[in-house]
Amino acid sequence: MNNSYLDNARAVEKDLVAFMQDIVRIPSLSSQEGAVVERIQEEMQKLGYDEVKVDPMGNLIGRIGSGPRVIAFDAHVDIVDVGDRSLWDRDPFSGDVEGGILFGRGASDMKGGVASSVYGGALLKQKGVPDDVTVYVTASVQEEDCDGLCWQFIAREDGLEPELVVITEPTSLRVYRGHRGRMEIEVHTSGISCHGSAPERGVNAVYKMAAIIADIEALNERLEPREPLGKGTVTISDIRSTSPSLCAVADGCTIHLDRRLTIGETEETSVAEIAALPSVQAADATVTVLDYAVPSYTGLVYPTRKYFPTWELPADAPGTQAALAAHRNAFGEEAEVGFWVFSTNAVATAGMLGFPTIGFGPGHEEFAHAPNEQTEVEHLVRAAAFYTALVDAFANGTPTEAH
Ligand SMILES: [Zn+2]
Repeated sequence: MNNSYLDNARAVEKDLVAFMQDIVRIPSLSSQEGAVVERIQEEMQKLGYDEVKVDPMGNLIGRIGSGPRVIAFDAHVDIVDVGDRSLWDRDPFSGDVEGGILFGRGASDMKGGVASSVYGGALLKQKGVPDDVTVYVTASVQEEDCDGLCWQFIAREDGLEPELVVITEPTSLRVYRGHRGRMEIEVHTSGISCHGSAPERGVNAVYKMAAIIADIEALNERLEPREPLGKGTVTISDIRSTSPSLCAVADGCTIHLDRRLTIGETEETSVAEIAALPSVQAADATVTVLDYAVPSYTGLVYPTRKYFPTWELPADAPGTQAALAAHRNAFGEEAEVGFWVFSTNAVATAGMLGFPTIGFGPGHEEFAHAPNEQTEVEHLVRAAAFYTALVDAFANGTPTEAH
């Protein structure tokens, strides 16, 4: 080992890439992550982690060091499905490397983050973790289905309380310090069914919904942008209705809303805003925030409301400063700083639990959930180097008071 974070990471490039190829080749949809978790567990054990365990939800937690100051690196191991295979130039699970690019579903979102953080841990194990620090590397489950649920469990049931959480989702190697929140809402109208041959005898729930749909579209237009995350949004992602038969007036209609939340927008403000729409009032429609209660691959059900709060780590917070210092120390230059467009497990670590959280990861957000997903091998190496530098910068920085 020498003093260069980047040289040390380059020295393990071959093993890092082979591991990444292995995990890309194991499909792992949400609630089906068992096989990939087993493979990652095997790698952590081989690399000499001090402790490796799988919690009751199925999250894999690797530990290095045993100091009082805790830093956690999180990567979710589940992926979304491949979609239309004809849009892919090669097998979505090939893990092929060509011209320094590694291809496959999950390459950017986010098995790259898994591989780089697991090897970041290995490099720390080799060179020694600072005495007062414990490093956790979590390979977490079900993020694509319900972001943050794994960390609600890891914090509340496993008892992890990190002073800093690093979300290793793709940032194109930039330092990210926030993103919009989101929630899932249903609006339901009721009518009175009757024979479709005489609709005037009934009340059509779909017609009541028509005015609400127009109001939702207008609401999206007037949501105000707020710095630094921009504007919240609302869109209708699904509509369905019920009636006794296809020859009857509809007696129920439901729309599903995808609401993205910027600074200052919460569950309360967003529900109140919809409930106050004139069309919702006129139709006496109900507004409900949905619940999530899908079993994990171990069979555990850990219900939560589908409200995922907005978060931002201030530019002058110790976590941001440690990330900027780590970037300088690893690469000799200033980091670019930004925010994700999508949502991550930070909705729980930062938004619900209040742990200072920062983002840095290999790959690109633009490839997430897209065909021909890929990441640069160089990104994997650089992210691993950055993670080791970050642990040192964290150890040298100001401790954050627990809250
Ligand atoms: Zn992701």
